[in-house]
Amino acid sequence: MTELPMQRGLLFCLSGPSGVGKGTVIAEVRRRRPQIAHSVSMTTRIARPGEIDGVHYFFKNTEEFRHLLEHGEILEHDNYCGNYYGTPRTPLEAMRDEGRDVLMDITVPGSMAVMKNYSDVVMLFLMPPTLSELRYRLTKRGTECESVVEQRLLKGRSEINKANLFDYVVINDELDATVDRILAIIDAEHCRYERLKGIENFVLSR
Ligand code: 5GP
Repeated sequence: MTELPMQRGLLFCLSGPSGVGKGTVIAEVRRRRPQIAHSVSMTTRIARPGEIDGVHYFFKNTEEFRHLLEHGEILEHDNYCGNYYGTPRTPLEAMRDEGRDVLMDITVPGSMAVMKNYSDVVMLFLMPPTLSELRYRLTKRGTECESVVEQRLLKGRSEINKANLFDYVVINDELDATVDRILAIIDAEHCRYERLKGIENFVLSR
């Protein structure tokens, strides 16, 4: 295969209501394509059973989070249902510089903030097949009490209403099919001419 000049990794924001399966989808994308990186967020939320610091999130207290924010270490942040969530800036830039695509699992306002700073970001919205299926998934997960589930569902409704702000909408009905579509989008984005500017000169010079 022709060796092209190295591209900087692309940035993909994956948003969607809590419980839609963003984490599972990202894990499966990475299982199939380990070269794709995941931006591990920081949060002030308490770790759920099985969550590992540095793998699922970097768990911080509010003071630590504020400190990092003030020192410009957080690229975007949001308060979601009473907890702070934010994207660490340095690792994300480093992974892109290595040529790795980076997937971010963030809220809708977080995605909008990224879009303001990175005009080339690709915005993906992961959609549940129905609202009742979303309720079922959130309840089945069993990680939140009933009132938190209701709070997240309420928030989910307003997030679903913002799907029009995204480049792509993928309905997460069946995991394998969802991952197929997301990988197809990633591949297609790499073929956009704007990502390959100068390719003709490279080809013609050889
Ligand atoms: P959870 O508590 O279920 O892990 O996450 C709650 C919400 O926070 C999810 O919608 C998730 O996408 C979002 N989230 C996770 N990390 C970040 C982040 O770094 N920034 C923003 N803005 N949202 C995040």
